[in-house]
Amino acid sequence: MLKARVLLLFSGGLDSILAGKVLQAQGLEVLAVRFITPFFHWQWRGREEEFDRMLREKYGFRGLIRDISEEYLELMKDPPHGFGSAANPCIDCKILMLRKAREMLSEVEADFLATGEVVGQRPMSQRRNIMRHIEKEAGVTGILLRPLCAKRLPPTEPEKKGLVDRDRLYDFCGRGRKPQMRLAEEFGITDYPSPAGGCILTDPQIGERLKRLLALRGGLSVREAELALFGRHFIEDGFWLILGRKEFENRRLQELARPGDRLFKIRGIPGPTALLVEGRGEAERVREILKRYTPKARGLPKVELEEITP
Ligand code: SF4
Repeated sequence: MLKARVLLLFSGGLDSILAGKVLQAQGLEVLAVRFITPFFHWQWRGREEEFDRMLREKYGFRGLIRDISEEYLELMKDPPHGFGSAANPCIDCKILMLRKAREMLSEVEADFLATGEVVGQRPMSQRRNIMRHIEKEAGVTGILLRPLCAKRLPPTEPEKKGLVDRDRLYDFCGRGRKPQMRLAEEFGITDYPSPAGGCILTDPQIGERLKRLLALRGGLSVREAELALFGRHFIEDGFWLILGRKEFENRRLQELARPGDRLFKIRGIPGPTALLVEGRGEAERVREILKRYTPKARGLPKVELEEITP
């Protein structure tokens, strides 16, 4: 008999690992998909084989990577359910991921979806009524199983069909981590990331910057989103300048520079690299800003700009 197959939305946190392990223990084949955007898990772009190998070795899951950047950046322009405390569109983010996972079901020949969500764990997106709303909007009602809190929710199709034994699922709820840690011990899982990590979109400073860029530019490309996440930014209508704060940021600015941008530094003096993304004619202003942020240039009466070819 063919094993039932589940497509697990896999963040890499303990809850998603456990959700997969619980189903695997019932004999299911686990396909773990990781969605990537410039805002999360971007380091896995182009590394699907490595990801798959890592997951097979560590957990016995198959690993898949899906880049959802384009849809995500579209969503960021005006998320229907708004942003959370920073630039995190959590409800629409979850809807998008679940919708994309549902669309993958036939491609990967999986029977249903699973997540590691726990009722009441997050203030907003894991409240029971919001969870139901998210399911409905994503079109996954009945085909989404949450093994860690399934006993607190109505039975899903895979339970009704007997693909999964409801008695061997869990009833975790709330923010406590103890039940998860006990279960991790049972599965012999010891090296899992701490829950503190979090998504960069919840960072207040980056959130404010992203919202400002979105308001001024109407939307962001993948490269612009990548640029927005590091460095020192000077943003006004018609002007966007980014300074590297460390050597690796200077290098990253050079890598991300494109024809049409201008790249500068102060000639002959070590210091930040500046990428002028918008405002091509503003070299004089760039010189002033760069002088301010190049410690060895500050006291000098005159400094010259050096333009680097991207
Ligand atoms: S914290 Fe980030 S990744 Fe998680 S749901 Fe919110 S926006 Fe999406």
